[in-house]
Amino acid sequence: MVIGAGVIGTALAAQLGDGETGGGRPAQVWLLDGGEPGAGTTASSMAWINAHSKSPRHYHELAVSGMRAHAALARRTGPAAYGRGEGAGPGWYRPGGALRWASGGEGLDQLRRTVARLKDWGYAAEWIPVTRARELEPALRIEDAARVAYFPDEAAVDPQPLVAHLLATARARGVHVRTGEDARVVAVDTAGGRVRGVRCAGGETVPADVAVCCAGWRTPAVAALAGAYVPLVPGDAPGSEAPTLLAHLRPGADAGPPLTRMVLSPRLHARPLAGGRVYLEALDLNDEVDRHTPADRVTALARELHARARDMLPAVARTAGLVAARVCTRPLPPDDNSIVGPHAEAEGLYTVVTHSGMTLSLRLGELVARELLTGREAPELAPYRPARFVRR
Ligand SMILES: Cc1cc2nc3c(=O)[nH]c(=O)nc-3n(C[C@H](O)[C@H](O)[C@H](O)COP(=O)(O)OP(=O)(O)OC[C@H]3O[C@@H](n4cnc5c(N)ncnc54)[C@H](O)[C@@H]3O)c2cc1C
Repeated sequence: MVIGAGVIGTALAAQLGDGETGGGRPAQVWLLDGGEPGAGTTASSMAWINAHSKSPRHYHELAVSGMRAHAALARRTGPAAYGRGEGAGPGWYRPGGALRWASGGEGLDQLRRTVARLKDWGYAAEWIPVTRARELEPALRIEDAARVAYFPDEAAVDPQPLVAHLLATARARGVHVRTGEDARVVAVDTAGGRVRGVRCAGGETVPADVAVCCAGWRTPAVAALAGAYVPLVPGDAPGSEAPTLLAHLRPGADAGPPLTRMVLSPRLHARPLAGGRVYLEALDLNDEVDRHTPADRVTALARELHARARDMLPAVARTAGLVAARVCTRPLPPDDNSIVGPHAEAEGLYTVVTHSGMTLSLRLGELVARELLTGREAPELAPYRPARFVRR
């Protein structure tokens, strides 16, 4: 059983239903979500598929294998996987790399360090002239003095069509899916120290030998139902660093050439979304919000994002209206690395929770499914076991 149908839970459910993963197909797989699939953190994600600033090295390699898994799924799926905006079908995968630049100061020093480290680790990262960046992305205003780095293997995905695809795959492979408030897990039944099943808010009891908790930033609360400990940065504490601000712009008809790939300046990160929309986020503004930030303050900060977009994407942003501005919460492990594995406190309980979950989802789904179905531990997951955290 999988609890939580965000990108992590749906990717895992699709793999668990696949007898090819190894170890054979389990008798029954359930996927339960107390809301709608993909409507949690996944829906708000910038969903940049990258291994840009992941450390240590093993976490970088895990993210690189996540990037490859996305490219492989898109190749296997064919044209239907490629999201190219309205009218182009329900695609999700946007290859084309990412452009990141800085003009001086700490921003440039940091970019230089990142490019040097990534090249050293064999990752595709190159310096390109400003003129080339303007050719690749005519919508951008980049100052002549900028140094621009290009990361050609990076990509972005559109979360909702990706989750819809994974969910359809899971269903086609026989996974039973229950969603909505009635399917919210409110208790985990254990006997003799092992998981026997879960109880849902609607009153249904679902038996299970294994319950995999993929509940995103609510994972600590769900794991606690079985007496297990998962220490994420508390998502709803005042001042928490887990909440993030984002805004969407909808450009007008005369916006000129659209944005086509991930772009990152020291002041603004932006990416194209379906229907010509543009996603905006700024790391420094994230520090100003938590889940208690009043709505008028969120709106004011979103206007600041829009102002920065006018600078970076003048034609696109000048014609655009702000169509969404919200604070959403990242599942943030205290050491930034994924938490993946079984719990000694309750046999049969297993957790998969991570930041960078859009990048990691497909690869974690493969590794965890194989581990659960074969009983053989995946060496790639050894650094991420829940046991590295000690309950205080
Ligand atoms: C603003 C922002 C930008 C991001 N940018 C990137 C990025 O560029 N690249 C990247 O790789 N990652 C990024 N991330 C991180 C990434 O989006 C997350 O790691 C990922 O979406 C987490 O997915 P999830 O399935 O674990 O969680 P969720 O999507 O939150 O799904 C968890 C699900 O569990 C369900 N649930 C919770 N409790 C229960 C219960 N008791 N019973 C039943 N169901 C339950 C919820 O309803 C929800 O649907 C970003 C995140 C944010 C917020």
